[in-house]
Amino acid sequence: MRVVVLGGGLAGVFTGYFLREAGFKVVGVGGELAYPLTSLVLTLSMPFREDVELARRSLEIYRRFVEPKEVTSVDILPRLVDLSRLETPHEVTDRVKGLRLSSDEMAVITRDYLIPVRRVVTHLRRELGFTDSYGFLKVKDGKAFVVADGRRIEGDVVVLAAGHRNRMLAREAGIDLPLEPYECYAVLYIAGRRMWRYSVGDYVLGWYGRPAAPPLYVAGDGCGRYGQGPPPNYVKRLTALLRQRGARVFPLYLKIGYCEVGPHGGPLYGRHPAAENLYVIGGFNGYGSMVGPALAERLARLIGGNGVEDVYRLERHFDVASFNPCEVAERHDWGAVLLRNV
Ligand SMILES: Cc1cc2nc3c(=O)[nH]c(=O)nc-3n(C[C@H](O)[C@H](O)[C@H](O)COP(=O)(O)OP(=O)(O)OC[C@H]3O[C@@H](n4cnc5c(N)ncnc54)[C@H](O)[C@@H]3O)c2cc1C
Repeated sequence: MRVVVLGGGLAGVFTGYFLREAGFKVVGVGGELAYPLTSLVLTLSMPFREDVELARRSLEIYRRFVEPKEVTSVDILPRLVDLSRLETPHEVTDRVKGLRLSSDEMAVITRDYLIPVRRVVTHLRRELGFTDSYGFLKVKDGKAFVVADGRRIEGDVVVLAAGHRNRMLAREAGIDLPLEPYECYAVLYIAGRRMWRYSVGDYVLGWYGRPAAPPLYVAGDGCGRYGQGPPPNYVKRLTALLRQRGARVFPLYLKIGYCEVGPHGGPLYGRHPAAENLYVIGGFNGYGSMVGPALAERLARLIGGNGVEDVYRLERHFDVASFNPCEVAERHDWGAVLLRNV
């Protein structure tokens, strides 16, 4: 059996990896490698049990390739938030060295993991033979195939895994997807020593941050319309939020990133009804390194005939024609989910 994977990010390479383990021949059309040199953060401090389960599994999968680096996770929340959903071991405190908290706030301390995603994806692209080409998805007579480098590439199975370009590629093939792309932003800072060990989710002021190689620190927030660019004074505003917390930071560089989300604020995977051999995986929004490898494993099982029913299945979300990605509460985000209960 032969699978053609369109897209060479986390979703594509891990789907290829697990399908190859299941005996498939993998043909990967990968596009450009999209990841920064700095690591992405994997946290287990998320409000939904299903997401934490995926993140735990992803961590086990990464350990086949790299040893993730542990850092202190600091989630800042209003004091009244109910933490009973938080299953991972944690400590609740009102004092964190180097960060300023007010009397109605608490810090939830857990452990996060820094994953050198670029290294892992580069390794798998090479091992699986992904090309850097860009391709098009085509659907004809109920069968999907890919066109790349002027060639028609056919497979028993075709997997669309092109990140924020999924929806556009599907539309060009004349089919729809319940996924929406959006812009997200991150700023690279020089930071004071205290910040070097903190992975922060500040759900009161609304920013996240994680250490890069000292003295560098990456922070970001927000959601913007696809193709529009960051709002005016974005860096100034974000820097002011970090400094309000007492962080000593100096901005160096603003990066515009592209993400994608499903209508339930999380990722989707499954078979697309438009073609008998077409499968899709995407919508990883801000937590692809947490859910990506584990969901790719589930997709590979589904393709192999051993699928499970879960909240991420594409088939469950086809009734949503379109939605505003910036108004969706992202599943991994305590702020979006729990603050409603305060
Ligand atoms: C600034 C920023 C910071 C982030 N930080 C974190 C973090 O700390 N932790 C975390 O878990 N997540 C983080 N994320 C989110 C994470 O990067 C994404 O969830 C994840 O990369 C999505 O994986 P993907 O494989 O679906 O898509 P992508 O990573 O976008 O990969 C898609 C791939 O498809 C390729 N492609 C596109 N079109 C085509 C085509 N036509 N033909 C062939 N190939 C194509 C692209 O070149 C790319 O290689 C961050 C995102 C951004 C933007």
